[in-house]
Amino acid sequence: MCGIVGYIGSRNPKSVLIEGLKKLEYRGYDSAGMALANQEEIQVIKSVGPVLNLEKKIETIPLLNSHLGIAHTRWATHGEVSEKNAHPHKVEKICLVHNGIIENAEELREQLKKEGISFQSTTDTEVIAALIHYYNEGNVEEAIEKAISRLKGSYALAIMIEGMENLYAVRKDSPLILGIGEKEYFVASDIVAIIQYTNQYILLEDDEIAKVTLHSMEVKKDGIIVEKKILTTDLLKEENNKNGYEHFMLKEMMEEPIVLERTLKPFLEDISILPNLKKYEEIHIVACGSAMYAGMIGKSLLEEKAHIRVVCEYASEYRYKTIQYDRKTLVILISQSGETADTIAAMRKAKENQIDTLAIVNVKTSTIAREADQSLFIEAGSEVAVATTKAYILQVAILALLAYDSAPCNEKEKAEILSEIKTLPTLLKEVLARREEYHRIAKEIYKKEHLFFIGRKIDYAISLEGSLKLKEISYMHSEAYPAGELKHGTISLIEKDTPVIAIVTEEDILEKTISNIEEVKSRGAKVIVVGTQKQCNYDYSITVPKINFFFQPILVVPVLQLLAYEVAKMRGCDIDKPKNLAKSVTVE
Ligand code: GLU
Repeated sequence: MCGIVGYIGSRNPKSVLIEGLKKLEYRGYDSAGMALANQEEIQVIKSVGPVLNLEKKIETIPLLNSHLGIAHTRWATHGEVSEKNAHPHKVEKICLVHNGIIENAEELREQLKKEGISFQSTTDTEVIAALIHYYNEGNVEEAIEKAISRLKGSYALAIMIEGMENLYAVRKDSPLILGIGEKEYFVASDIVAIIQYTNQYILLEDDEIAKVTLHSMEVKKDGIIVEKKILTTDLLKEENNKNGYEHFMLKEMMEEPIVLERTLKPFLEDISILPNLKKYEEIHIVACGSAMYAGMIGKSLLEEKAHIRVVCEYASEYRYKTIQYDRKTLVILISQSGETADTIAAMRKAKENQIDTLAIVNVKTSTIAREADQSLFIEAGSEVAVATTKAYILQVAILALLAYDSAPCNEKEKAEILSEIKTLPTLLKEVLARREEYHRIAKEIYKKEHLFFIGRKIDYAISLEGSLKLKEISYMHSEAYPAGELKHGTISLIEKDTPVIAIVTEEDILEKTISNIEEVKSRGAKVIVVGTQKQCNYDYSITVPKINFFFQPILVVPVLQLLAYEVAKMRGCDIDKPKNLAKSVTVE
């Protein structure tokens, strides 16, 4: 969500900042801004809309000669989208950019107003700048420390002080790193913003204050210097290119077979590296968005095959609910970025209750990966498109492995399944190669206003992800229902040619789902069946290769991802950056 880039060094800061912001565009934002500083003054430039607008505006303005600057893409939480509310915010000498939310901003604003401070914007961010200004009696670090001790909420801040050629950085519950180059330093909310300049960085921990000058970098906590470990990222510069594909989303879907192979490999070599789930009586799977729907597939698999009771909860609900834990509960957290604010809070809640936590994450250095008792990593590489595809598939793959490992199958069955799993990347390639077919179907449905997905049991969990993907990127209204539930209300919305996508992989209850399909067909629905058997009685039937129950969803969901992609393309949508959405949701 939103982005921060800061730079100090001998390059032209404007270019570093603009390039950095462009790399962060995928995260979703509504306005952008930049501030340049030298020893005397600070220049702030902001604009609403894409970074391109900021870039164009900059071209028309004489810029300060400087070695230092901060920049931001804003995803508004407090105050409307406007130039005034865009970051950086400057109060007297204090200029800063902020990712996150300050929950007690209004209370602080009122107090500061009484002290004679006036505000230009309606953001929570300006309150932070005002607070630092209020406490600044010459010792900036002390002022920052005092200011952040008053804040409730989350923040990643890059701060400059007029008249000083320094950069300060501090964070709480929102990611921020310091990049280290040759006689130059960077601040970024995500390594992708600076990967073209350096792969060396340090991770700031909560409430550590970094001070960066042209020649040095120092991190302190409570006034005491902290020795920080320099880390090296293995993220490649090239990962941030489309490699000839029209969209990142398409490129990332096409990468699914290769990242699947990479993720499965260590487990196929030695399945015993998986944690033992059999010792738990209940599992809580806690996540948001697509990760939650991956979790629902995990629930189906673990309950059906491993006979473990599983509860799936949205992290935003879980964190505030009364949860009945007993010692034999395991909490599984799923988050691509490992920085999802609600999921972090849910993890901390479980830990406070001394409950074991297991994370399924992509980013190894993320907060969730560092704080969970155990982590299983998906090897997705960087996922740039806001709508997740490959990371979702890998989350499902890890859950399928856990269910397979916990299931009471005999050795022969296990060996058969294991050899089948090895064929999965090839089968997935076949599914992805049939774009023509999905394109043809998309043409039939892309002008419709509503669409329904139906399925029973695991097919319902698959439907939820198919429906979310379509909504996210094509803005077409769609809903997923358990196939048997539609007639309890929503079937009233089915009329002539309403598209209904039925997922049919649960062959034990095939007839039951077929009956539900008949119910919508007889009310005029245009029926598209996606399943493991050809269904000739309907408008379209997409047949995917059959594999064991554990891994079947991995051959179905990509069809729905590609269908959503084709529909979104025909509707002329901004596929990689859908409106209102952000990539990793670091606010509540
Ligand atoms: N809460 C701040 C605002 O609304 C920062 C939002 C962000 O993280 O971009 O301006």
